[in-house]
Amino acid sequence: MSFNHCGRSGLKLPAISLGLWHNFGGVDPYETGRRIVRRAFDAGITHFDLANNYGPPGGSAEINFGRMLATDFKSLRDEMIISTKAGYYMWPGPYGDGGSRKYLISSLDKSLQRMGLDYVDIFYHHRFDQDTPLEETMMALDHIVRQGKALYVGLSNYSAEQTEEAVAILRKLGTPCLIHQPRYSMLDRHVEESLLDVLDKHGIGCIAYSPLAQGMLTDRYLKGIPEDSRAGKSTGFLKKEDIKPDILQRILKLNDVARERGQSLAQMAIVWLLKDPRVTSVLVGASSIQQLENNLQALDHKHFEQAELDKINQLLN
Ligand code: NDP
Repeated sequence: MSFNHCGRSGLKLPAISLGLWHNFGGVDPYETGRRIVRRAFDAGITHFDLANNYGPPGGSAEINFGRMLATDFKSLRDEMIISTKAGYYMWPGPYGDGGSRKYLISSLDKSLQRMGLDYVDIFYHHRFDQDTPLEETMMALDHIVRQGKALYVGLSNYSAEQTEEAVAILRKLGTPCLIHQPRYSMLDRHVEESLLDVLDKHGIGCIAYSPLAQGMLTDRYLKGIPEDSRAGKSTGFLKKEDIKPDILQRILKLNDVARERGQSLAQMAIVWLLKDPRVTSVLVGASSIQQLENNLQALDHKHFEQAELDKINQLLN
């Protein structure tokens, strides 16, 4: 595994991190998830990403991960970077969603209980909340760090403008923003417009989520929609309708480019993101050990010829 400094901070993150959004909830086989997490750590993936609402049901991914920490990683806490988030709906009533101080602080307390932890390494506000003053949300993040319940804070799904504003408030409070977690893949390049520049300017790291477009940038859907795939399952966030014919055509062509490079489409999609030095880590998901192994091997072939990049750009535009 290779490690990159997260922006201009002292914290290094693995080039590939593992997310527990899907495949680690109460509806998923626990032992499969446990094997994936163990293999990931053995391969040098030190960073595991969670959120209060991951499951389903919401909270169950943290409960399962907490179980793994207790049985398999008891003495390894100092070798792991664990993140969680709050910002989406978590519990009924006005205090279980959004960006209020009330929600963020109580949600992190619940996350820590579920995982059996004293602190997380990174706590994120999961999405911008236009109904809460940004100062309140950022003061809650600052407070959480001062309480010792998180070592660093991050933002997720904030636009470039919202990030600029939030970063300035955090800096004034004395708790710098460590990292931003946006969606970024070959099929969604919105961060290239301005967010990556903003992060670079302020020395903030970037961890790209859904780098495989939830599985679309792999061989998963090349021959239809398997029943056990994210789009095939009723609990998945990806829907059958998302696998549109025009996207599939593009994926097939990208798959040819990957094959010519001697790697899988998933591997090419991962290293394509890592070629930009502003990207600290690529946050993959996996439903099997085989997928994880395949993704890890991406790092064996990182170099792109200009002609390959041109071809990919042509297919993406
Ligand atoms: P990916 O884009 O990496 O999709 C993962 C899925 O792709 C897997 O579940 C699997 O699908 C398929 N897959 C993975 N590797 C392979 C392979 N080698 N070959 C074939 N198929 C493969 O990421 P996710 O969408 O899962 O997101 C990753 C993480 O990002 C999340 O766990 C979470 O931590 C974070 N995230 C953050 C968000 C935010 O708002 N901040 C939002 C979304 C994600 P299948 O299950 O069909 O086998």
